[in-house]
Amino acid sequence: MTASKPALSRDQLVRYSRHIMLKEFGVGGQERLLASRVLLIGLGGLGSPASMYLAAAGVGEMVLVDFDRVELSNLQRQIVHGTSDIKRPKVQSARDRLLAMNPDVRLTTWEKALDERELIDQAAAADVVVDCSDNFATRFAINAACVQTGTPLVSAAAIRFDAQVAVFMNRGDGGCYRCLYDDAATGQETCAANGVASPLLGIIGSVQAMEAMKILAGVGPGLDGRLLILDGLRMEWNAIHLRRDPGCPVCGDRPSAHAS
Ligand SMILES: [Zn+2]
Repeated sequence: MTASKPALSRDQLVRYSRHIMLKEFGVGGQERLLASRVLLIGLGGLGSPASMYLAAAGVGEMVLVDFDRVELSNLQRQIVHGTSDIKRPKVQSARDRLLAMNPDVRLTTWEKALDERELIDQAAAADVVVDCSDNFATRFAINAACVQTGTPLVSAAAIRFDAQVAVFMNRGDGGCYRCLYDDAATGQETCAANGVASPLLGIIGSVQAMEAMKILAGVGPGLDGRLLILDGLRMEWNAIHLRRDPGCPVCGDRPSAHAS
């Protein structure tokens, strides 16, 4: 019989010591985090803090998806990118920053919008999907892939001073992101046209990282089944309980073939 190697190195025991000393977390929670894989889509205002906190926290593997390049107007809120990154692909810029923060994290990057098949494959390979995209078409496609593969989804959106964030475990009867929004919602407003307060994205992207981390480490109960709404101007939080919509085209009683 050979002696088994300790799962955490001496450096890791120090790096993650403030997690390990949390009684809800412990060595086991950190080991689960280091063994986990996250699919994170969108490296903008939400994806910046979400990816940075998840990398620093010790997620083992992250798949980063974004087809965009860094622009000057991004830098007010997309804090994973710097001024010297302008014109670089966001996945490359984020990759450099996250690896500088924590060399433990293994990164795969996709500099493109994933098609339906790729999205399903990547969702199936992930323990959690973090949706930091900025439009309903992408969010619907991500949701459909997560429902189909039974992958937990942490979803968020922010504009002006308003934001919302929700967790869909996609197992059991909890409903999905599509239960919340119908096609009519796709005529949406954008941050490019309406503006967005910079720290609002830090707050909500950090909530996404927090919820993803707890799901991965097995620390709960978390936000599952609730939509958290922030009025950042008044600094007021509200939560509404989510229910599955039997008429939902994705998770309802009669799902349609092209519900994304
Ligand atoms: Zn649904």
